[in-house]
Amino acid sequence: MYVTHTNLGDCMTARIIDGVALARSLRIGIADRVAALADKGVTPGLAVILVGEDAASAVYVGRKIKACAAVGIRSHTDRFAADISNEALLARIAELNADPAIHGILVQLPLPAHIDMARVLETIAVDKDVDGFHLYNIGGLVTGNTVFSPCTPYGVVKLLESEGVDLVGQNVVVVGASNIVGKPTALMLMAEGATVSICHVHTRDLAQYTIMADILVVAAGVPGLIVPQMVKRGAVVIDVGINRLPDGRIVGDVDFAGVSRKAAAITPVPGGVGPLTVTMLLENTVQSAERANAIAA
Ligand code: NAD
Repeated sequence: MYVTHTNLGDCMTARIIDGVALARSLRIGIADRVAALADKGVTPGLAVILVGEDAASAVYVGRKIKACAAVGIRSHTDRFAADISNEALLARIAELNADPAIHGILVQLPLPAHIDMARVLETIAVDKDVDGFHLYNIGGLVTGNTVFSPCTPYGVVKLLESEGVDLVGQNVVVVGASNIVGKPTALMLMAEGATVSICHVHTRDLAQYTIMADILVVAAGVPGLIVPQMVKRGAVVIDVGINRLPDGRIVGDVDFAGVSRKAAAITPVPGGVGPLTVTMLLENTVQSAERANAIAA
């Protein structure tokens, strides 16, 4: 567990939380579980649906497919034109729901405006919803019986766990309240016993919240939003943000150099939360295959 440092002056340098190394070690364990399933004649299968030509989405899907292959998960991608109808998309999801070789279904977001995203996500079978975006899985975060946790918040939990952070009674502040990152992260950390505040774009005086955080999770999509004056000395800072600057650099939402002099530990961008997001997708897919195999046995 982290202690608050009060006597180290401004030159304190935070420990860098290495998401790449954690992802690598988790993926070794996942590959072992895939091998154990193979001994029982089961290959975990992930179906990815990509609609339209969004370049960033294509890159994200490419990374997921590559990561699947590296641990032995079989995956395939259905690529549809941007003008696919709602009905055609829903019909394809229904086919995948019924396919016993498929253990996880992922629809890459965002979807074109004419597609009814809520309906698409709710059509995915709950027990194949490895992204954790189905209403049941989101609701389960409140009641504590979710089938799959959403991948990025799950990654945040894993990073904190790997750092030995005991969340019980800690003040956690989550900056960002989206359905896919901020809100589920807050719920998952509250379930671990933390006292959680959620801030968003309408929060007045953000700093008065962030300065109280023993653990600060930032997922706003605003580069440089969190500066050292907003961070409690000795805090653990998890930067979920991914922002491309005009000069091409990728940065998070936190002033990394400045906050590193005040925090006890901090995730870099890139190399922090990002690798965990894909890893938790692999974890959820293997879990799904293990569950299906246990039911069939
Ligand atoms: P979003 O745009 O859906 O939500 C942003 C949230 O931040 C909103 O709740 C908004 O109210 C809040 N916000 C915006 N400006 C703010 C401000 N000035 N002060 C306080 N709150 C503010 O974004 P998202 O999908 O939740 O993603 C957030 C960031 O995380 C983005 O940079 C995104 O690229 C990144 N992201 C990273 C990963 C990963 O794997 N590391 C995964 C998903 C998203």
